[in-house]
Amino acid sequence: MSFYNDIKLEYLLFKYITNLLKDNSLYNARVYRMTNNYEKVVNKFNERNCKLLNTNEEYIEILKSSKNTTYKLNYIASCGHEHIVFYNVFKSR
Ligand SMILES: [Zn+2]
Repeated sequence: MSFYNDIKLEYLLFKYITNLLKDNSLYNARVYRMTNNYEKVVNKFNERNCKLLNTNEEYIEILKSSKNTTYKLNYIASCGHEHIVFYNVFKSR
């Protein structure tokens, strides 16, 4: 009985660590991919006569702290006002 429990515990631990590593590497890949995007994001705003206000460093921090792929950015709109927008929404309109 105790032997069986040890094996089971070991298996659960293995599964737990594997999932942890998998999640972490996926998370890092996503952050890496997105943090190399700053230039593109800046251009997206410029194309629409807007100006992104967040610095590259702020952008990276925003991405790192977002739990999914949606995140907000600050920008000056073509009307001259400062706005906050979900970047995926801004991109799609
Ligand atoms: Zn406005």
